[in-house]
Amino acid sequence: MNTPAAFIRGIVKLEDLPTTGRSQVALVGRSNVGKSSLINHLLGRKGLAKVGNTPGRTRMMNLFDSGLGYDVIDLPGYGYVQGATAHREGFASMITDYLADAPDLKLVLLVIDSRQGTTKLDIEMLRYLQQEEIPFIMIVNKTDKLKQGEVVELGRLLEEHYPEVRRIMYSTIKTNNRAEILATIAKAM
Ligand code: GDP
Repeated sequence: MNTPAAFIRGIVKLEDLPTTGRSQVALVGRSNVGKSSLINHLLGRKGLAKVGNTPGRTRMMNLFDSGLGYDVIDLPGYGYVQGATAHREGFASMITDYLADAPDLKLVLLVIDSRQGTTKLDIEMLRYLQQEEIPFIMIVNKTDKLKQGEVVELGRLLEEHYPEVRRIMYSTIKTNNRAEILATIAKAM
């Protein structure tokens, strides 16, 4: 029987990741791409994941019990990492440390922003997932920000560049393909 979705905990060190014995789906993407909003919409609970995260929070890895028999892992957003003297662009090591050794991980949702398409770091992540043979799909979020013709054109471009990558166009405001994402996750678990 399904139980309500719940926040389990946020961690800053991988060794603090609790073992629940359940399969995991993980979300990766640039900071601000809408991962928290997506989690709330998929699991049907507003406020479960904090939207509009402060920079500190986006460095954390957050673990949720979907209530559907698997856990959802929100990995730190990538992009600008604040250093002591300068900003540098990159992945937090926790992201790749987790992905490199996650026996319960069954699927990754690579979330991109439809207004930008695939950024340099998105492509780096995509190639990393392919190289490590980690199953993933691409979620093209914030499509409500584009005109219908632009959504079609973006779909065409992504198909041209990454024909092997399954993608789902999405908007956490319109939520058209929510059932498709949930069914894809359920099948992978
Ligand atoms: P995160 O940093 O990846 O967890 O991103 P958040 O979920 O915190 O979202 C960042 C900002 O984008 C927030 O202001 C959200 O309301 C907004 N947002 C998220 N998804 C969408 C979407 O599909 N469409 C639009 N227009 N805004 C979105």
